[in-house]
Amino acid sequence: MTRIAIIGAGMAGVTVATLLKAKADIIIVEKSRGVSGRLAHRRAAPFGFDHGAAYMTIRDRGFADMLAPYLLSGLLQHWPQHPVKLRSGERPEPLPHKSDSYAVSGTASSLIKAMLNDHLSDIDMRLATKAVQITHDGEAAKAAKAAWRIVIEDSTATEDQQEIIADWVISTAPAPQTAALLPLSASFHHQLSNVGTDGCFTLMLGFDTVLNTGWDAAWGADDQPIGFISDNRTKPGRDQARTALTVHAGNSWSSRHLASDYDDVKAQMIAALHALTGINAASASHIGFHRWLYANPSRPLQGSEKTPFVMDRSMRLGAAGDWCLGGRIENAYLSGFALARALLPLI
Ligand SMILES: Cc1cc2nc3c(=O)[nH]c(=O)nc-3n(C[C@H](O)[C@H](O)[C@H](O)COP(=O)(O)OP(=O)(O)OC[C@H]3O[C@@H](n4cnc5c(N)ncnc54)[C@H](O)[C@@H]3O)c2cc1C
Repeated sequence: MTRIAIIGAGMAGVTVATLLKAKADIIIVEKSRGVSGRLAHRRAAPFGFDHGAAYMTIRDRGFADMLAPYLLSGLLQHWPQHPVKLRSGERPEPLPHKSDSYAVSGTASSLIKAMLNDHLSDIDMRLATKAVQITHDGEAAKAAKAAWRIVIEDSTATEDQQEIIADWVISTAPAPQTAALLPLSASFHHQLSNVGTDGCFTLMLGFDTVLNTGWDAAWGADDQPIGFISDNRTKPGRDQARTALTVHAGNSWSSRHLASDYDDVKAQMIAALHALTGINAASASHIGFHRWLYANPSRPLQGSEKTPFVMDRSMRLGAAGDWCLGGRIENAYLSGFALARALLPLI
């Protein structure tokens, strides 16, 4: 069987693996200790925060079909119900209800975990394993053997586990990480550097009481310290007794401050939150902070038309992810799906 190494266990990687597993020997290499990528959840007992993606759109028919069991079981439920727009000095302005938006019950990462459990329980999954280099073995290729050698960093690996051998390598890491990993000689490599990526600073505030804000999701502005706030308490399957706010700075504001001192960024976000909403972070019993270096593709893959993935058939390399189509979970799925469909006849 063709051996395919997939870098990344986010929505794109898990989608590729699910579609190819019947025809290929799949190994997923994921640098984090857990799966789910940017569809992430952080626990800081007694609080829980979806500190990456807050919700997902379900617009595409195929995506809806794939998610149908989770919609039926209630793992995915409509959210937000009371979205607002925040403007300085004004009352929050109610926004129309988003009928195509859903949050994951319990924790954001529960969706990918459910997909893995349902479709990929027997997969070779290497967590806490970072792909650091990919090299091509010309002799193996001549002998029609698997020619890609992936050098990995894995604290638990023994000597002979320090590399993974595969016929195909598919990266679903964000574009800058994919560019650093895959060889310059890949036909699509130059396209990766055209992708623009914004960062995001995320503040997590846990309160021992319920804050009655009147909204569950609130939009600020992309070029401001407050870009988007979600109240995790209002999502399905969450602790109802405490407010747990995830506060994302605007993407372009974050990118401008990526090199700034974290304490300064945090202080600016806390001050802006208070000015915009009246919420006082000083009364929070938990304050967490995270910097997403590659949060959102500000400029997805360029081209005459949007390309859902990239592939070099002769080199047996490919890449997919939200950066191909735009920074949304649904786009990560569509990209992974399109790549897997193109790869199926080749293996
Ligand atoms: C703060 C924030 C808020 C967001 N809000 C929303 C939202 O509300 N709605 C929405 O639809 N989308 C949102 N998004 C975007 C959404 O999270 C992404 O579009 C989607 O999760 C991308 O999935 P992916 O599989 O393409 O990439 P990822 O989820 O990033 O998966 C890539 C994986 O590759 C792994 N990896 C990278 N390099 C290596 C390596 N060298 N070796 C091994 N593994 C590696 C990473 O650890 C990661 O797990 C948000 C993102 C962020 C950061």
